[in-house]
Amino acid sequence: MSKCVFCKVVRRELSAEIVEEDDHAVAFRDINPQAPVHILVIPKKHITALDKASEEDVLLLGHLLLMANRAANSQNLTSDYRVVINTGGGAGQSVFHLHLHVLGGRAMGWPPG
Ligand code: 5GP
Ligand code: ZN
Repeated sequence: MSKCVFCKVVRRELSAEIVEEDDHAVAFRDINPQAPVHILVIPKKHITALDKASEEDVLLLGHLLLMANRAANSQNLTSDYRVVINTGGGAGQSVFHLHLHVLGGRAMGWPPG
């Protein structure tokens, strides 16, 4: 996935403000934050979107959720944060490498727009 921007973050070909990293995933600040805390959590494996994940990814998907919580904690958010996965262009996905948005630090409306 040579042209994928998030694969480039994983390979350090694109700079990003990384807040958490391990063998399977990276968490870094969104370049265009929509809340005081806005972190993206991505798998190092290129998966285009949640609807392209499969049973073989079950452990990885759980891992991403736990990293999302750790990333929130690292920003002093132990609760009162939101995790969002836009899946498909119609739902607002613009980067086609699976990512979890971790948003917090302000009041959240419901339902999301
Ligand atoms: P989506 O719209 O696909 O759910 O979210 C993609 C997110 O990636 C957007 O919030 C956008 O601001 C962020 N983003 C896009 N390109 C870059 C980049 O090069 N670096 C960082 N840190 N974030 C990016
Ligand atoms: Zn990718």
